[in-house]
Amino acid sequence: MRISNVDGRLTTFVDGKPVDVAEASGGRFGPDPQDGFERWEQLVDWGRSIGARGAGAVDADRLDAPVPRPRQVFGIGLNYVAHAMEGPWGVPDVPAVFTKYPTCIVGAKHIVQIPAPTTDWEVELVVAIGRRAHGVVAADAWSYVAGLTIGQDISERTLQRAGNVPQFGLGKSYPGFGPTGPWLVTVDEFTNPDDLSLSCALNGETMQDWNTDDMIFDVPALIEFLSASKTLLPGTVILTGTPHGVGFARKPPRYLKAGEEVVVKLEGVGELRNPVIAEA
Ligand code: ZN
Repeated sequence: MRISNVDGRLTTFVDGKPVDVAEASGGRFGPDPQDGFERWEQLVDWGRSIGARGAGAVDADRLDAPVPRPRQVFGIGLNYVAHAMEGPWGVPDVPAVFTKYPTCIVGAKHIVQIPAPTTDWEVELVVAIGRRAHGVVAADAWSYVAGLTIGQDISERTLQRAGNVPQFGLGKSYPGFGPTGPWLVTVDEFTNPDDLSLSCALNGETMQDWNTDDMIFDVPALIEFLSASKTLLPGTVILTGTPHGVGFARKPPRYLKAGEEVVVKLEGVGELRNPVIAEA
């Protein structure tokens, strides 16, 4: 089953056509996509009862974030070995956790504005949590996941590195620095949710091209680690880290430029396209 946010309304797909959940359910579920996570299991059961499966055609300029107002947004740094070796920090012993502030989350229709010339790209697998999780063991972790989507952890590297300790949360949370979408795909639609190719291209030139099976801490390990000390609320999102190929590590460094289009792809989900412009 896929969940989308079409013009701000919770939408799923049946036989390739978008279905407005509030209308089709006779009001059993409301129109707000964020509210769907509070009753996720009932929503998925209802979706299956109407044959919701696969995607459909929706104009990208109608698509907002599938999790539009997450109460928590966790980011994971340095979660692929080759990427960890690109920067000054090295390979972590435990997940390197930071926060992207929720106001940075946007959808497929969003145009990314560059606030500074050192703004970088990071394609990531994004996990949405479907039920309250605390003290979850890895073996049970996938059952707490509502679904997967594509994300960009856009990062302004100068602010990220300002001061004596890295300012990950600040540098990665400018307005619009968290494009996600185009939809959320439930775990049962993947042959193996731990083994998904993902890539990032700028104007057709591939910058990152890797696979999530190479994560240092996979999705179950991340949920176990995070939920050991935190409560993950329904509708929480976790950006699980980016593979190598980001701009700051290139020689010479390369950053996002106005006029480019960032295209990120994730196996089993599709692609997310966001044009880039200079900040007004
Ligand atoms: Zn990242």
